[in-house]
Amino acid sequence: MYSSIQNLHDDLKAKKVSSKEVIQNYITKIEESDSKLNCFITKTFDQALKQAEVVDQKISKGEELGLLEGAPFSIKDMFCTKGVRTTAGSRMLENFIPPYSSTVNKRLDAAGAIMLGKVNQDEFAMGSSNETSYFGPSFNPWDVSKVPGGSSGASAASVAARMSLCSMGTDTGGSIRQPAHFCGTVGFKPTYGRVSRYGVVAFASSLDQAGPLSLRVEDAFRVVQSISGKDMMDNTSSDKAVPDWVSEAKSFNGSLKGKRVGFIKEYAETDVDPEIKEAFEKSLKVLKDAGAEVKEVSIPLIKHGVSVYYLVATSEAASNLSRYDGVRYGFRAEVEDAAKGMSLDDFYAKTRSQGFGEEVKRRILLGNFALSSGYYDAYYNKSCQVRRMIKSEYETAFKDVDFILSPVSATQAFGVNERVQDPLKMFLNDFFTVSVNLAGLPGITVPVMKASNGLPCGVQLIANQYDESHLLQGALTLENEFKFYEEVPSV
Ligand code: GLN
Repeated sequence: MYSSIQNLHDDLKAKKVSSKEVIQNYITKIEESDSKLNCFITKTFDQALKQAEVVDQKISKGEELGLLEGAPFSIKDMFCTKGVRTTAGSRMLENFIPPYSSTVNKRLDAAGAIMLGKVNQDEFAMGSSNETSYFGPSFNPWDVSKVPGGSSGASAASVAARMSLCSMGTDTGGSIRQPAHFCGTVGFKPTYGRVSRYGVVAFASSLDQAGPLSLRVEDAFRVVQSISGKDMMDNTSSDKAVPDWVSEAKSFNGSLKGKRVGFIKEYAETDVDPEIKEAFEKSLKVLKDAGAEVKEVSIPLIKHGVSVYYLVATSEAASNLSRYDGVRYGFRAEVEDAAKGMSLDDFYAKTRSQGFGEEVKRRILLGNFALSSGYYDAYYNKSCQVRRMIKSEYETAFKDVDFILSPVSATQAFGVNERVQDPLKMFLNDFFTVSVNLAGLPGITVPVMKASNGLPCGVQLIANQYDESHLLQGALTLENEFKFYEEVPSV
């Protein structure tokens, strides 16, 4: 098993191994471990082996390899894949086979990535533990009695367990960064607009952003470099030039001299698990020792981040999910003979009651409430105003610092069934991640250490919009020190 695409490419080019052998090894690992982890909803092994043959032909002809050539990927089931079932973790889309692929998938294909299958997630990406999936929970490879996090939980678990070298996830309020922290992988959410959302099942369109999970920082940037850039199919995608981060990573000399790293006062005042604090403090020291100047910044409105996020995200979700009506596509409730004459409204209600799970229904109800007349100004509008203010507080902070270090979550991975009955507690879990989405900023989780209970602990770096290069430098500095990719769970 590999821990980086570069190592894989070195071996492929030196003909130490063929692409087909590599893919076969990953398939064997999935067959061995996935019964314990429940990551894969749909496997695409035949297609993967065929693609590997093409890679091997390219190598034998001495052709140039793409940035992701031959890299085995798992893909969160939020990404539409032409001809391959795409469920979003929901009964509503249990049998949905998209007639087209997401822009992300097309660009991954163009860069040579090989898809091993579609992986589990919280239903419609709503959740922080993978427990809201219609296909049952996935489990944490470091301790299967714990959740892998969510909503891209199986993306993180499949990478940590070496069932795939990289994975694609989506992050609306932390869904790439939090599972990366729980499973000990890198998880990178780019700036909102870097990556096209075309063909990604919509949760909350002003917050959703796709990004990778990987073992190494450079791989995460390799993936984002391959999938970023303007897409005519998504008018929120940015036409900003995409930097050559792979070259930047190679030429980074390890020094942060002249850089300023911030920590957020309001986060520093928040109670977190002692080992989360330890991971944070160790990381701050590493950045400081590399030459960065440490500064305190203040984002006073961050304390309202979770409230604002759960109003904005549920409002957008209520609107986005109205398309699942049992008429156009997706699940349709059976109508017994006696009910054949039922009204259209009753038919919708029946379909949506059966097709959606509890958490999704809760979000739709909350969102429709916040959007309804009489409450719109007090809830939805107000939350949009506070959102803008949070963004401007971050803008002020980034006048003083180049990037910010913060925890990802107040705890390590929690137990399966421990919080799923307490939605408020689950929501509060997102305190350290949601404001990054509200402000459209890039954020990355870097794994740092194993806590005394054997579970990984990561930290988060946050930068200004389109300034992912600073994240790269900070993240590489941490990775060079902690080398968490050398730790392998025994699952
Ligand atoms: N945990 C958050 C939620 O449930 C974030 C989910 C996400 O980023 N997709 O909404």
